[in-house]
Order: sequence, then structure tokens, then C-alpha cells
Amino acid sequence: MNIHEYQAKALLREFGVPVSRGVAVLQASEAEAAAKTLGGPVWVVKSQIHAGGRGKGKFKEASAGDKGGVRLARSVDEVKAFAGQMLGATLVTAQTGPAGKQVNRLYIEEGSDIDKEFYLSALVDRETSRISFVVSTEGGMNIEEVAHKTPEKIVTFSVDPATGVMSHHGRTVAKALGLRGDLGKQAEKLVTQLYDAFIARDMAMLEINPLVVTKQGELRVLDAKISFDSNALYRQSDVIALRDESEEDAKEIEASKFDLSYVALDGQIGCMVNGAGLAMATMDIIKLYGMAPANFLDVGGGATKEKVAAAFKIITADPNVKGILINIFGGIMKCDVIADGVVAAVKQVGLNVPLVVRLEGTNVDAGKKIIRESGLNVLPADDLDDAAQKIVKAVKEVA
Ligand code: GDP
Ligand code: MG
Repeated sequence: MNIHEYQAKALLREFGVPVSRGVAVLQASEAEAAAKTLGGPVWVVKSQIHAGGRGKGKFKEASAGDKGGVRLARSVDEVKAFAGQMLGATLVTAQTGPAGKQVNRLYIEEGSDIDKEFYLSALVDRETSRISFVVSTEGGMNIEEVAHKTPEKIVTFSVDPATGVMSHHGRTVAKALGLRGDLGKQAEKLVTQLYDAFIARDMAMLEINPLVVTKQGELRVLDAKISFDSNALYRQSDVIALRDESEEDAKEIEASKFDLSYVALDGQIGCMVNGAGLAMATMDIIKLYGMAPANFLDVGGGATKEKVAAAFKIITADPNVKGILINIFGGIMKCDVIADGVVAAVKQVGLNVPLVVRLEGTNVDAGKKIIRESGLNVLPADDLDDAAQKIVKAVKEVA
């Protein structure tokens, strides 16, 4: 789960992390009061969307102007004008895809006098099973490009969970960023605060780009992106409260209500599978035969008929789906429950695309019988290979 920049900064502030003062606004009419509260003389008006690259982004509407999604304002009137232009407009950045994202919230911040811009991130590193930090003097830029072209400018280290952050970690960061004296001390303190926040809030990734040194000699977090480990959300009610559903895929929200493991993708074949491994294999084999999956979906082990029906409806509601492949290897999951769920869903919402069903395992005969007797127009398949070839062929014939 992701949150907005202004929410991330409020969360980090609780851990003592230095961030600028700011006010979030939902309507242009609130901009003037926000600007006056902050005082100026310089403000930053920042689009709040769940995507980076806002500064270099472009709005689709000409009326929003061509100054990008993060703008420096030098008067209250300018803050007001920018807020009016940006709110409601659609911002396209390198991370939003060509459709862009509508800006429904702004964050108005006191402007900082920047001396230097750095990059700092922390993430769960699967290779070391630890939290790793990535630090670079090349902030404000595309970090992937820095990693590719000048890898020597990136410093990484991981933190042993048994000890937590130690002072040598802080010194490593200070050295990597060329910070001495008081700024070095600030860097050491910051690393501890960020690590504490990361652990306490079950983050999966925390990216600060840029981390800046101001002309007044202060280290400050100027942009912050946080994503949380969704498996830990059950114990992070404060984090769940920050969820902005308008930023998420509607199909994924619906799936999460039924506790389905679902990820929307941009192919044309809808997949309903049990078991994450089989789901991955199913996606691979669809690719092998020349098409792409429209989703990852693991209905899980002990799914009910209702859950299966909900899953099927989510798949059929996706206009990109031109064919559906159901691939079930019944173990704990029973083939007849899958069949019941699919038939119930089709009765409610209909079926306008080819459907290939491959059932194997527990109660397979009962499952096949339910589908046969339902009168559904189903292409049966015997194994995974056969199933993938059949659905790809059927979709290509319709097209
Ligand atoms: P992003 O483009 O989505 O990553 O948004 P950022 O929050 O990183 O802002 C983009 C750029 O705007 C930063 O890299 C800074 O160069 C600039 N910027 C952001 N806040 C300030 C500020 O307070 N003062 C100044 N002078 N520039 C800022
Ligand atoms: Mg940034």
C-alpha cells in the first residue's frame, strides 16, 4: 500500500525527521489561507498523486500551464493561481503511464533554500534478509540512471536486525554524502530516525529524493515516498486510515474485500488459478503462446463459492479481457466449488468472451459435471499446455 507525500512527511515527523512545514488542501479556495499560515516568502505547490517524477511532469490540460506538477510560488496570489490550475487537472509523469493521474490534493509547503540535493532510500532487501540503505550524492535525478552509468556514486549497506542502526551506519551515510561537523551529526541522527520509522510502521520501501542541505546548513527531507508491507497492515490501523482508494486500481480494491490475491496487469487473458506458483506458471505459459495475462489471481486454498464468483466477476468486468483461462489443481480447493462459483457468476453477469477450463484434482468429476450441465459455452482442456494454446487460439479467432 502507498500513501501521499504529505502523509509520509507527517508520519516521519512523528519520529523527529526534519521536514518542511506544509498544509494539504483539497480545494483551491483553501490555498490562500494555507499560504498565509505558512507565511512565505517562497512556497512550493506540490501535486499529490501516487507517482513520482511530478516536477518534470506535464498536465494534459493547457489551462494548467506548463510549469510541471511541483511549482515554486513567490506570492500568495501565485499560490492561489497554481492551486486553481493544478487541482482537478491530469498530470502525466514518467511513472503514471500515458493516461496520467488526476490531481485531487495539493501540498503547499514552505519553500527551502537548497544548497545540495541527495538521494537516500531504505528497503527490505531479500538477498540479505535485512533492511538496506541506498545513498547517493546524485539526488533529484533518476536514480536508476545513476546506478547504470555511475555505479560508484551509489553507496549501499544493510543493518543487522539484532543490533539495529549503529553509529558507524550514520558515519557511512555522512561520508557518502560528504557531510562533516554538525551536518554529519544530523545525518547520523536521521539514519536512526528513518530506521526506527521503517521498523515501527512495517514499511517495505522508503525513498527520499531529494534529501537536501539547505543554505542555512540543515539537512531536510524534501520529498518522501513510502510503501507499506500489505501483510502487516492488520497491525497498522493508523496507516490503513491513510489509504486513498482513488489512487488504486478499482479491481484490486474489490479483490481485497474478498481477500483474493489479485494484481491487475495489462494483457488480454484473464486468469483464475489456485496457488501462487501455478498462477505464475499460467501467466508464463500464456506469454509463451504469444499473448499476455490481464491479471494475476490466486483464489487461494479454501475459497468459497462466493469468493470464486467475486473473482470471476472482477475478471469479466475488465474491458481488456478478451478471453478467460481457469486453471485449477484441486488439493484443498475443490473443483466442484470452483465450478459452482463460476456458474453462479456467469448467471449474474453473463459471459461474452471465450472461456477455457482446466480442472484437475479433488472432486474433478463433480466439477466437470457442473460445468457440462450448466450449458456454459466452455472449451475444456486436459493440461496446462493444452489450456494455454486453446485460449490463445480462441481469442485470436474472435479478434
Ligand atoms: P518529484 O518530481 O515527484 O520527485 O517531486 P519532488 O518533491 O522531488 O520535487 C521536485 C523538485 O522540485 C525537487 O527535486 C527540487 O529540485 C524542487 N523542489 C521541491 N521542493 C523545493 C523547495 O522547497 N525549494 C526549492 N528551491 N526547490 C524545491
Ligand atoms: Mg522527488
